[in-house]
Amino acid sequence: MWRFRKFSLGLVRPQTVTALLAALLVIGGFLLSPKIIRPAQVASVPIIRPISPHMVKAAAIELPAPLDCGKVPCIALTFDDGPSPEITPQVLDILDRHHVKATFFLIGSRVPGNEALLRRMHADGQEIGNHSWSHRDMTTLSPDEVEQEVSQTQQVIAAAGVPVPRLFRPPYGAVDEMVRSHVPLTVLAWNVDPEDWNTKKPQKIIDEVLSHAKPGAIVDMHDIRQPSADALDPILTSLEQSYRIVTVSQLLDIPSGQPGVFYGR
Ligand code: ZN
Repeated sequence: MWRFRKFSLGLVRPQTVTALLAALLVIGGFLLSPKIIRPAQVASVPIIRPISPHMVKAAAIELPAPLDCGKVPCIALTFDDGPSPEITPQVLDILDRHHVKATFFLIGSRVPGNEALLRRMHADGQEIGNHSWSHRDMTTLSPDEVEQEVSQTQQVIAAAGVPVPRLFRPPYGAVDEMVRSHVPLTVLAWNVDPEDWNTKKPQKIIDEVLSHAKPGAIVDMHDIRQPSADALDPILTSLEQSYRIVTVSQLLDIPSGQPGVFYGR
């Protein structure tokens, strides 16, 4: 009673103290409580319906830093048919020296035994795509075989400890409606073909690439032959003067699982 009387005589009355304590408890509880999700927020969360297990995994892949290739002249170099224990490390070394990222479309059956190379690609920031298991013309296969070619390659790449690809490049660029509808990945072709597989002369490859280079181009090369590796350094030195050299995903800014066939920007 004495304390109450003292309080009541001063500026702070017991009712005020009680009110302040209650207010502190409410504020403290609000700050410490988990984020409150209101019905309106729940309703605004988009519902994603994955088409296949591949796309579920692909959705988790981190994309490279955003770069607007609609405003800056970009070009994407791609390397098919690897990994090759002899040539791929040379290509990676050259890309690394130039601080350049490219996209590698791997043949699944060539991955076993070369898993460390895949891990290096990923650690270097290179993009990894799927180029089928056995490099057959997909348009000549049954739908089941097409699915098998793609999924087996996805599995062996994922088993190497790198992100599962979200891009598929059909061998020989052969794609039709059947292939498209049975490949749950974005299909990537090219629009600059130096035919590096068809020559032993690096200079011919260099001339072909540089004479056809243009903003938005996707250049198709192969990291399984020495002339291609020998041509790469001069190609990069020249392209760097006019272009940002980027991965296919950066070039096209493709949302994960985007259907369709892309040849360039
Ligand atoms: Zn190929």
